Amino acid sequence: MHDHEAVTRTAEAFHAVYGTAPTGIWAAPGRVNLIGEHTDYNDGFVMPLALPHTTVAAASARPDGVLRLHSGGADGGVVELLIDELRPAPAGTWAAYPAGIVWAMREAGLPVGGADLHYESTVPAGAGLSSSAALEVATALALNDLYGLGLDPQRLARLAQRAENAFVGVPCGIMDQTAAACCTDGHALFLDTRDLTRRQVPFDLAGERLQLLVVDTCVKHELGDGAYAQRRAGCERGARALGVRALRDVPYAHLSEALDKLADEPVVRDLVRHIVTENHRVEEVMSRLDAGDTRAIGPLLTAGHASLRDDFKISCAELDLAVDTAVAAGAVGARMTGGGFGGSAVVLVEEADAKAVTTAVTDAFAAAGFVPPRVFTAAPSAGARRLV
Ligand code: ADP
Ligand code: MG
Repeated sequence: MHDHEAVTRTAEAFHAVYGTAPTGIWAAPGRVNLIGEHTDYNDGFVMPLALPHTTVAAASARPDGVLRLHSGGADGGVVELLIDELRPAPAGTWAAYPAGIVWAMREAGLPVGGADLHYESTVPAGAGLSSSAALEVATALALNDLYGLGLDPQRLARLAQRAENAFVGVPCGIMDQTAAACCTDGHALFLDTRDLTRRQVPFDLAGERLQLLVVDTCVKHELGDGAYAQRRAGCERGARALGVRALRDVPYAHLSEALDKLADEPVVRDLVRHIVTENHRVEEVMSRLDAGDTRAIGPLLTAGHASLRDDFKISCAELDLAVDTAVAAGAVGARMTGGGFGGSAVVLVEEADAKAVTTAVTDAFAAAGFVPPRVFTAAPSAGARRLV
């Protein structure tokens, strides 16, 4: 959806729902993580980029403390809430995400009132592309402008994370919301999840005649949730055993000594190996992109996949097939992205090979009897912004 098309569609839908024109229209993107997987809860490095796909919010302030929410992408009608009565509601409906933003802002003492909001989105939900952060950040930016809060993008991202953690009840890190709020066109975003320093890293695909494909496997295997908690606990155990605050503090140069210390805990040892090598890969990717050598990141992406598959053990048959097939068909590099056990893979390809690689992956899925994947191109796009 192009911006002007999104504006027209969302304004019309807002009018159809609420009977008036919205005061403004805001957009926030979905994201993919280029490299730096499961490093966020180890105080490590991540490098997401914003997708061209956005969640668009049309909104007007209300003086009466009523919050009305409606989404073209959700079943049911308008959800109506009183902002004074908002309470954290784990496992609620989709409306918990935007309601959580209002709650988090009020909890922080910010002078935010009621609003009418309508959403349209092109971010696939539940595909590991962070439709939840797009929804939160579009809401946060709309309220920021409607109520003149003057918050910067990083602050909006933190409020959105607070909303998702405490109000929706999802223990996510800060990457998704930061990507949705802070990414810029033509760049990947380097983020140090310890001190939240960030840097825009040039990621010029078109100029290099490259493309980044996202392969959405359209599957999500059940073990996901418990496995996340286990990996997280294993990483904390590793940090304790090594006497560091977080695994981010294990220098890559001292990796083999660290692994030796964990010889009788092979599961933890393998988790540690992934985190330490993954942080190193993020730094290596950044230095190659800074040098303008975009193609050179390919092998680092593919090595990252092997590490997630063999050491962190969170890949699955569909993700492995997508990555292996893409690389065999000539991709420059490929890796699973996101939490694992399904979701999406990213594939870096020469523009000229994009079609052949896409066909190879689609054919391999058909031959394996898997659900057909959804493949699309992810040009590094802008973060949250006001459209009108
Ligand atoms: P992901 O963030 O990877 O897409 P999540 O499970 O974190 O997956 O978030 C998906 C949920 O976010 C959906 O189930 C829905 O509740 C909510 N959501 C996201 N986008 C929208 C939207 N445009 N309209 C309504 N709800 C949405
Ligand atoms: Mg999410």
